[in-house]
Amino acid sequence: MQEIDIKVKPHFIDIYKNGYPLISKESLENFSKLTQEGLIVNLFDAKNRFLAKGYHGIQNKGFGWVLSYKKDEAIDVAFFKKKITQAIEHRKKYIEDKETTAYRLFNGEGDGVGGLTIDYFDGYYLLTWYSIGIYELKPLILEAIKESVEYKGIYQKKRFDGKGKYLDDADDFIMGERASESITVKENGVNFAIHLDDGAMVGIFLDQKEVRKTIRDKYAKGKTLLNTFSYTGAFSVYGALGGATKTTSVDLAKRSLPKTKEQFAVNNIDPQTQEIIVEDVFNYFKYAVRKKLLFDMVVLDPPSFARSKKHTFSASKDYVNLLKEAIQITAKNGVIVASTNAANFSMMTFRDFIFRAFKELKGKYKVEESFSLPSDFKVDKKFPEGNYLKVVFIRKLK
Ligand code: SAH
Repeated sequence: MQEIDIKVKPHFIDIYKNGYPLISKESLENFSKLTQEGLIVNLFDAKNRFLAKGYHGIQNKGFGWVLSYKKDEAIDVAFFKKKITQAIEHRKKYIEDKETTAYRLFNGEGDGVGGLTIDYFDGYYLLTWYSIGIYELKPLILEAIKESVEYKGIYQKKRFDGKGKYLDDADDFIMGERASESITVKENGVNFAIHLDDGAMVGIFLDQKEVRKTIRDKYAKGKTLLNTFSYTGAFSVYGALGGATKTTSVDLAKRSLPKTKEQFAVNNIDPQTQEIIVEDVFNYFKYAVRKKLLFDMVVLDPPSFARSKKHTFSASKDYVNLLKEAIQITAKNGVIVASTNAANFSMMTFRDFIFRAFKELKGKYKVEESFSLPSDFKVDKKFPEGNYLKVVFIRKLK
């Protein structure tokens, strides 16, 4: 790999010295030397003292990621193998758990390589590349995976806008044996149908595993559950398995209907016994208020930003209103599970949104418990913004 030396501007030096892993364009003296993503860059201070080594890759978050603080460490197959081996070590709990065959094996900067995640689905590995830069390092990373794990097959998703040679793959399959169109994995003993090669998403968001389990084990029994922004209905499935009397899943996307039916079916729950509605959540709230519907549990899991025909929703601006809608159709002593994956505000701010929503409606509530990322979504302590997930279980008292 070609390595380029670059100087860091004086007032940014302490940031790298303190271990911040994201490389920013503003911090570099002569960033134009980085002519190509994937280049390995050695960062130096004004006196030519080595600070860190990383790669150049453009992501919404920055200009590259630090990989090492050792000047002589080569970024080669052995380097990635070491990172993957350490990552495997950290997931022992999941690897040994017979009831869970789906988890995140490698979580970007949390495991020492920003821009790359690896998810495990019952023998299949799904690599997600977040920039052209990390994709340029793919041959090294694939070789490292080959040497560190036994796999049935390897798949990939590209989360960057590439042109030319970056568009060459006909599908998401890379190597090994092809998975059938739908494979069934387990999480806490619950089945999930996973589609490894069917668009950008595979059917499950692995970061909510603890929240789903908590709903099933502690809250669902004998309750009605409304699951908004339900996607494939994962929260509804856990609710039904936990003994919810009925679940109602609402999502705007047409695909959510067959996909939710499928998730119920692989868990031997007749989808006919559950309600699955394809509609804008905000319309559904109006309908529910008009019909005076009340739910014992309401799950709110909106995208951090979404545009539908009538609405633009931004979590940082609109979550208070979303909560107010939900509070109105939650039964007294019912529970709202408020979730957000928006990285641009903190748990403090999120708790303040909850406070404001209840205050504006003159309601009362109690926070039962809250969650952030599970341990397989390892976070770099020096990069706390990587811990984007915030989930709060709120009991409506009044
Ligand atoms: N809760 C889901 C993940 C939600 S992903 C899970 O546990 O798997 C966000 C979902 O919100 C997407 O499926 C998208 O189709 C849906 N969505 C976005 N805007 C919406 C709206 N206004 N009304 C209903 N669904 C919406």
